[in-house]
Amino acid sequence: MKLYNTLTRKIEEFTPINPPNVTLYVCGPTVYDFTHIGHMRTYTNNDVLRRSLAYRGYKVNHVMNITDVGHLSGDDDSGEDKMEKGAKKYGKTVWDVAKFYTEFFFKTTDALNILRPNTVCKATEHIEEMVQLINRLMKNGFVYETKEALYFDVTKFKNYGKLSGQKLKEKIQAVRAEVNVDKGKKHPADFALWFKRVGRFADHTMHWPSPWGEGFPGWHIECSAMSMKYLDETIDIHSGGIDHVPVHHENEIAQSEGATGKQFVKYWFHNNFLTVDGQKMSKSLGNFYTLDDIEKNKINPLSLRLLFLQSHYRQPLNFTWQSARASQEAFNKLREIALNLKPQKKLVSLKSSKALSYQKQFEDVISNDLQTAQAVATMWDMIKSDITNDEKYFLLIDFDKVFGLNLDNVTEEKIDANIIILAERRLEARRKRDFDASDRLRIKIEKAGFKIEDKGETYSIKKI
Ligand SMILES: [Zn+2]
Repeated sequence: MKLYNTLTRKIEEFTPINPPNVTLYVCGPTVYDFTHIGHMRTYTNNDVLRRSLAYRGYKVNHVMNITDVGHLSGDDDSGEDKMEKGAKKYGKTVWDVAKFYTEFFFKTTDALNILRPNTVCKATEHIEEMVQLINRLMKNGFVYETKEALYFDVTKFKNYGKLSGQKLKEKIQAVRAEVNVDKGKKHPADFALWFKRVGRFADHTMHWPSPWGEGFPGWHIECSAMSMKYLDETIDIHSGGIDHVPVHHENEIAQSEGATGKQFVKYWFHNNFLTVDGQKMSKSLGNFYTLDDIEKNKINPLSLRLLFLQSHYRQPLNFTWQSARASQEAFNKLREIALNLKPQKKLVSLKSSKALSYQKQFEDVISNDLQTAQAVATMWDMIKSDITNDEKYFLLIDFDKVFGLNLDNVTEEKIDANIIILAERRLEARRKRDFDASDRLRIKIEKAGFKIEDKGETYSIKKI
């Protein structure tokens, strides 16, 4: 299995620390707002990674955090806590906001058939672990205290910037002076490990006691603390959005390696962005789509998943409703094929060399840094080939272990009784050779979203 590693900027052979086990940490959502279509793509790609590893025989232990405190609106510790802001906006408590958006997140990922992590951990339930980690960093001389907060001193960490390849000097130039709110902060790239409940945070609702007084943790420390608690001090793969590379993940490395003296992560996996109609998603542009918008537009979330599979995770993807509808059509076709191929008795193994070569081809492209678009193309080639239907079904379900399109669960769509009545009337008209009436009824059935096909003295109806 080969994977691109952001740390080395190379496609590398994936060798886990303790095979066949794989430790995978995924940065989870900050639960202050709706999960949108960009998140859907990121978490689908993480899921494809996990499923591909399992396909190759690895046993994946997947941990994901829920950020429910400490994530400020500015990546450089400026601005407000996103959770507190969300609570004010909706007139709710921070806890209610967190609960509501966490549920929405999982409703979305379930609809996309994204496997739930083995462990889901909330930042607010791991304050003790974060305090302990900060203490370790203090002992190792990486921390300084101001009136407002405890900071990690990036100049003390020799390899700061190794993930993004950005030098500290470049960082200074990139940070605007006015957003550097804490006057006691020594370097613009220094980041908060703990905020005290003073000054701009005097009214912060979520706070806990600590050796440095009442306060709350900074955003980055939670991922290091929970990754170490549930996995190990060194893990195989850490995943997140590409926007996390220069700050969040750089900081995770600094504080983890600063505390343990060991490499934090062997392989860094990053997902590229999603744009909508060629533009960055934003609420003001009205292109911030959630699961509800997808369903309102009669797009099955799984056909969205198929759309995501058709671009590589390291490439940006431009979403349009047209592409979603095209994917919906392809997905319907695929379901129909799965339904028609479903045998009475499933094959236990493949025998023909041609069927085996399709399986090999699929495994090869998936193992080559998850070339999902090629894997989808292999699937269509296989369907069109002259191998037996039983072999096709076997391979379709085999490939779907990675695709996750639920193809082994396809059942006949229920047809509305009114449509059946129209179809029966049409059959009657055909028997009487009244073709005008038969055509009118066919158009009516099609307008209701169904396709009718004549089969001798009877007919079949399918949802379009
Ligand atoms: Zn994280």
